Amino acid sequence: MATYVYFFGGGKAEGSSRMRELLGGKGCDLAEMTNLGIPVPPGFTITTEACIEYFKGEKRHPHGLWDEVVSNLRRLESAIKLSFGDPANPLLVSVRSGARVSMPGMMDTVLNLGLNDKSVVGLARRTKNDRFAWDCYRRFVMMFGNVVLGLERPAFERLLDETKARVGARTDPEVPAEALMELVGRYKTLVMEKTGEAFPQDPLEQLRLTIDAVFNSWNNQRALTYRKIHGIPHDWGTAVTVMAMVFGNLGESSGTGVAFTRDPGTGERHFFGEFLVNAQGEDVVAGVRTPEPITALRARAPKVYEELVAIKDRLERHYRDMQDIEFTVQEGTLYLLQTRSGKRTAKAAVRIAVEMLREGLIDKEMALLRLDPRRLHELLHPVLEPTDKARAIGKGHLLVKGLPAGPGAAVGRVVFSADRAVEWAKGGQKVILVRPETSPEDVAGMWASQGILTSRGGLTSHAALVVRGWGKCCIVGAGDLFVDEERRAFQAGRTIVREGDIISMDGNTGEVLFDTIKLMPPPISDELRVFLKWADETRTLGVRANADTPEDARKARENGGEGIGLVRTEHMFFQAERIPLVREMIMAADTKARQVALEKLLPFQREDFIGIFRAMDGLPVTVRLLDPPLHEFLPRYTDLLEEHTRLDALGINQARARELEEVMAKVRSLQEANPMLGHRGCRLGITFPEIYEMQVRAIMEAACAVTREGVKVEPEIMVPLTGTVGEMKLTHEMTRSVADAVLGDTGVKVNYLIGTMIEVPRAALVADRIAEDAEFFSFGTNDLTQMTFGYSRDDIGKFLPFYLDRGLLPADPFSVLDEEGVGELIRIGIERGRKTRPALKVGICGEHGGEPSSVEFCHRVGMTYVSCSPFMIPVARLAAAQAALGSKAEGNK
Ligand code: PEP
Ligand code: MG
Repeated sequence: MATYVYFFGGGKAEGSSRMRELLGGKGCDLAEMTNLGIPVPPGFTITTEACIEYFKGEKRHPHGLWDEVVSNLRRLESAIKLSFGDPANPLLVSVRSGARVSMPGMMDTVLNLGLNDKSVVGLARRTKNDRFAWDCYRRFVMMFGNVVLGLERPAFERLLDETKARVGARTDPEVPAEALMELVGRYKTLVMEKTGEAFPQDPLEQLRLTIDAVFNSWNNQRALTYRKIHGIPHDWGTAVTVMAMVFGNLGESSGTGVAFTRDPGTGERHFFGEFLVNAQGEDVVAGVRTPEPITALRARAPKVYEELVAIKDRLERHYRDMQDIEFTVQEGTLYLLQTRSGKRTAKAAVRIAVEMLREGLIDKEMALLRLDPRRLHELLHPVLEPTDKARAIGKGHLLVKGLPAGPGAAVGRVVFSADRAVEWAKGGQKVILVRPETSPEDVAGMWASQGILTSRGGLTSHAALVVRGWGKCCIVGAGDLFVDEERRAFQAGRTIVREGDIISMDGNTGEVLFDTIKLMPPPISDELRVFLKWADETRTLGVRANADTPEDARKARENGGEGIGLVRTEHMFFQAERIPLVREMIMAADTKARQVALEKLLPFQREDFIGIFRAMDGLPVTVRLLDPPLHEFLPRYTDLLEEHTRLDALGINQARARELEEVMAKVRSLQEANPMLGHRGCRLGITFPEIYEMQVRAIMEAACAVTREGVKVEPEIMVPLTGTVGEMKLTHEMTRSVADAVLGDTGVKVNYLIGTMIEVPRAALVADRIAEDAEFFSFGTNDLTQMTFGYSRDDIGKFLPFYLDRGLLPADPFSVLDEEGVGELIRIGIERGRKTRPALKVGICGEHGGEPSSVEFCHRVGMTYVSCSPFMIPVARLAAAQAALGSKAEGNK
């Protein structure tokens, strides 16, 4: 038969910190502290298994549980030399919840259990303190009434307030014993009125009911929501710890406190915490009285303080991590009630990891595993100041929640058009561009904005992709937000936000608030630099950046990028002075006219490449040839039609009207039912070879120019959207002949590679043949995910929330790589590609390249590098290091 109860006390415990799953965090660490000889009141822990059985048995105790509880209660009585329910000398216990991971405040606890009308008198006599005994009893009736009997806490609080008013007490400790005695009577009457039954007097019945209530609190709404947010499984259950009460409310030489072994905000190595004299633990949490800093304890009780400092140092050395402890001082004697790894800011986490390594407490591997790579965002982008944000949420200013697409935070005035964004930004305003969705035409406005908010689109939609690359704050797919461009307003629930109103965005969570929230700058500390250097020494996977401009390239290098994995050349076409040339190229009636326009574009492209190559001197740069369908560069059809209709109605400017008709005809001719699967990628370069020829020439001429300056460059020319062997052969031949011609003309020696993106599932399947011509692969997992699932990357926002809610998808596949499906294609692609070319360089340049679990997958399948936005590079560096440590651990098994 399973053991459901584990005892601790008298310097020995049956459990230990290795039994976290069974005893919960609180239970296992109380056992561990007992074994270490740290003063902990004795008690016992009921296992999580008992809780799971309780739910399986439709809320009946598993067989044998109650007998074990009773026999452990007897052990507890003899350890502490008090009897449960003894009217003269009662043992009181606390009953506490504790899951295997801490869920602060989500489940229930009852203190002072064991008191009744008789034992309260015994307690008063033993402690020679009437007030204390009746204070314990009234607290117990209130907690039991609330937690076990389900009565509202405010009803009890009202009665307490009435009593205070009647006796003229400002604070709880000023209420005298007689008044408390009378208050207990009123509490019991309340219980009788509300439940129809008397407050239970039998301590064993009290205990049994409370254990059930704590089990049940595993499934209260708060706990359910918390588990959902943090991805904690619902079938873990909670342990229940029953331990002898010690009292911090026995007078001036007693008290209670909470402390951290280091500062959880900054990571600084100093004892940090709070202490409340003459109080029980709940008073600290409730915040009714202002506690003193922990150092005040030194003045009040120097011996106790010294002992506490020695214990906290010992706990930190033992657990080799910063601890969050709860303690109580009962008439000058110190007891520890809890220890656990303390929650901390990312900044503190990095500093603590680095300093603990220097102190010899942990090694490099442990240090690197201490921080979730995602949390590095907090250190790299301005963020909303947490207390100010909490204030705004408290006031009900949260407007909507969308998909968090771009990091950091933004605060600014709402505008509804890209032009307005540019105009206001020029005037020195901070603006946030709000659109139903964005298109390449909006790019200037997006750039001018602090943040971008769209009601449609997924995590790889246009806005998300472009803006994330800039490291700008962006929220997309906020479906509950209705944008009325005409009225220049948006509506979220009942709130209407108009142009010029200030909103704040949290790009890390997707929250949008109708408030001006303070921003916090994120300084890159020396500790972070050291920490990331260790990550570099540990990882085997390369980390490159997706970068389109010299500026991005510099940022990538600054953040530790080891090359560029993707230059999206179309992004170079979006700049204001180039758009007319691009349009001229698209509108060209024939090849010759197109070539003339391309000749004008070439110098711009060449200059950009020169800038990028210089910035990346000595590092590889992968340049992708034009990918998107051409109509993306033309104005919107509806805008053209509107202008045309206006001119027509007014009968003015005939020349412009004719020009518009021409453009409209072209836009119509380029329109496709499904442009993402249409005339784009290498299909474009094959049907309009002059476009790719110009681009290859620009790349190679730039490479030759910088080589002459002494810059080391080895361009990797990448063909997008290849699906067949024929496409690869043809584009390879075209590229080779133009590139070699440039080298021949200039007489400069430059090594270059021609490779392809693998983003069409078919390409992964015929990768062995594709690799005959492709000298490297880069998995474009945005398109590969789109085509594998058949989900439009721009429209997933419509159904994704439902799918996530119902568990049909574990995560957004455009954010977290789908290992089972898309990942299988990647595995096949790598395996087949390397069959033909064993040393094939393989990377990933979809958005997944900066997502930690996807990075781990890329490491596992043997990729050469991941490529992500310059701002995500530190995240990828740490994720890659953790992946390397993970596979090392696997290997050691
Ligand atoms: C991809 O498809 O993963 C990719 C990187 O290309 P793009 O996002 O530009 O289509
Ligand atoms: Mg793509």
